[in-house]
Parts: sequence; structure tokens; C-alpha cells
Amino acid sequence: MKNNPSPDTLCAQALGWIEPTTKALVPPVHVATTFERDPDNEYRSGRSYIRNDSPAWDQVEGLVTRLEGGAATVAFASGMAAATAPFLALKPGDHAIAPEVMYWGLRKWLVGPAREWGIAVDFVDLTDPAQVRAAIRPGRTRLVWAETPSNPLWQVFDLGALAEIAHAAGALLAVDSTAATPILTQPIGLGADLVMHAATKYLNGHSDVLAGTLTAARTDAFWERIVAVRTGGGAVLGAFEAWLLLRGMRTLPMRVRHASASALFLAAHLERLPQVAAVLYPGLASHPQHAVAKRQMRGGFGGMLSIRVKGGEAAAIACAAQVKLWKRATSLGGVESLIEHRASIEGAGSPVPGDLLRLSVGLEGAEELLADLQQALEGVGAEA
Ligand SMILES: *Cc1c(COP(=O)(O)O)cnc(C)c1O
Repeated sequence: MKNNPSPDTLCAQALGWIEPTTKALVPPVHVATTFERDPDNEYRSGRSYIRNDSPAWDQVEGLVTRLEGGAATVAFASGMAAATAPFLALKPGDHAIAPEVMYWGLRKWLVGPAREWGIAVDFVDLTDPAQVRAAIRPGRTRLVWAETPSNPLWQVFDLGALAEIAHAAGALLAVDSTAATPILTQPIGLGADLVMHAATKYLNGHSDVLAGTLTAARTDAFWERIVAVRTGGGAVLGAFEAWLLLRGMRTLPMRVRHASASALFLAAHLERLPQVAAVLYPGLASHPQHAVAKRQMRGGFGGMLSIRVKGGEAAAIACAAQVKLWKRATSLGGVESLIEHRASIEGAGSPVPGDLLRLSVGLEGAEELLADLQQALEGVGAEA
């Protein structure tokens, strides 16, 4: 046996766990909310109440920690609960830096409740280290938040460079690695302090669980504050959701590699279609951060891409209306391919161009996915 099992092996066997009394290979759905105290008034099992700690989380948290090469993981009730936890662990007056264009739900929270609560957030172009350095407020900047590849333009940020800038300023680098997954990128190895996943997406992969995870490079005082945010705020993962998530993660490496290969195939073909103004995908040589992506991502560039449709917003919406195989829906990272007019769901204030369609590539036949998009784009072209 190798000392370092591959992600394939770690996932397939969910760390090889066997239930000691029954020898079951699959964990039960642990639903207990409370645990017995020993007669001497100690909690020797280490567990007292489900909001603090549940055996339902053990395997999922352990598996994510191993895949990310971190020190510890906490699971949350959603990706947003995981993403907001590091900001909630800051103190009023602290300053954070985040990408100009990023996951919309978190951006809305950062410009709303987080600012009202006293966290200053600057949104800068993270592809330009000079802009990040200029945004640092000495003594106040505590957190640099990166999302790579980022929604929905799929920009790629150089995590090594960002870690250096953050650390030189005494700040932490936290990475929303939802689109990359631990199969394609391991941010901690590149210098990140925290890694977040909307486990709702690729980690679970079947569009039937809401969950989030946060993994730490070290279990220090700031990590304890984050754990306290979960325990105190109570946004913990349900037992059945944890069970489903572990089941989904057993096939994570295969799903991610398949989706990445199909996305690259689609991106390369879509780039040549006359109805397409641009294809945004880190795996394409035409992508502005392709060199960074090649260095930072291993085994693929992910299953997410966007296209900009010639003819503007109306043409993009018309194209989405004419697909037959792709599902018109939000979210990403599931086994079924999704198409979404992103500006429509983000609404007022969205920086996303109106002609952009976001594509989440699933596990269907790539040729069929391409043919369906092609007929939809041709239909729009014929109408125009
Ligand atoms: C979906 C998503 C989130 C939020 O996760 P939820 O589980 O929906 O709360 C955060 N970041 C990214 C990149 C996402 O795609």
C-alpha cells in the first residue's frame, strides 16, 4: 500500500471505514440529538448534543479533510453557511478583500448584512496582484476571499500569489473551491488557510442535498472562532444530508473527470460556432488565465463554462428556451447538465453580461449535449 492513497481510493471507500460492532461498510444515518453522560459527570464519548458534534458528520468531514490535505473540516447546513462563517468570525472594523465578480449570493451578503455588521469589504480584480496589494489596509485586512474558477466568468486566480500577499499583510487566504473541487485543485497546498465548498454542488453531485464544508490548514484560534460560529449559529448539517453527501462523494473523482473532459470538448467546439461571441472556459488557450489554470489545476479544468451569444440578451434567452436535453435550471455540479441565463437570476445590480449563458456540464453524452446546443443556437440565428 502506498502511504498516500489516491483521491479515487479515498472516495470509493469513504476512507475505508467499517462499523466496529456490525462490520457494516456503510454508516448508519445517525439521528440522535443527545448523548449519555457518564456516571462520573464526564462526557467521555466527546459528544453531548447534536448542535456541537454529531457522529453523522464524522466520515464526510474526515474525507474532505483528507482530500484537501487540511487539518480539520466542519460541515454546514449549506454552502452559504460555510462561506459566511469566516466573515462572521471576524470582528467589526476588520477588512476583507473579495473578487469583483463572484458567486452572487455571497456578494449580496457581503455588501448587505456583513457591511452593516461592520465588516469592510473591497471588491477588486484578483487576477491583478498589484490591485490586491493596493487594496490591503495595513493592520485591518484580515481576510482575502478568492473563488476560483469564479462564477460565472470562470476567471482563475493565482492562489500562490494571493497567499503571499495575504500573509505578508497578516491576513488569511480563504478559497471558495466549489467549481474546482479537491480533485482538480488543492488550495491548502498552494498556501490557502481555509477552503470552502458548496457541497450542494460537485461534492454531492446529484442535485438532492444542500450542504457546505470549510476546511482549515491549521486548527488555531481563528478556526475555533469558526467552529463556534457553527455551534452557536446552529447551521449544522442534517443526518440524512450527511449520509447522502458521503454516498455522493464516493464517485466524486470519476464525475469530476468526466464532466471536465466533456466541458473541454464542448468549449472547443462552441468556440467555432458562428452564433457564439465568446466561450469562457479555463481549459481553452484563449482564456486569459489559461497559464495559471494549467499550473494550478490538475487533471482537468472543471465542468463549468459560459458562452456569450451573438445578438445579446434576447438571443441568449431564446437559445436557452430552445434546448431539449439541457435542463433550464440554476445550481451546478450535478449529474444532469444545466443551462442558465445568469443575469436573469442575479437581477438588479448584477455585473454579468446579458448575453451570457452559464453551462454546468453533467454526465450525459458530450456529443448529444453539443448537438442540442448547436440546434438551439441555429434556431436563434434563423429567427434573428
Ligand atoms: C452554490 C454556491 C454557493 C452557495 O452554496 P449553497 O449550498 O447554495 O448555500 C457558494 N459558492 C459557490 C461557488 C456556489 O456555486
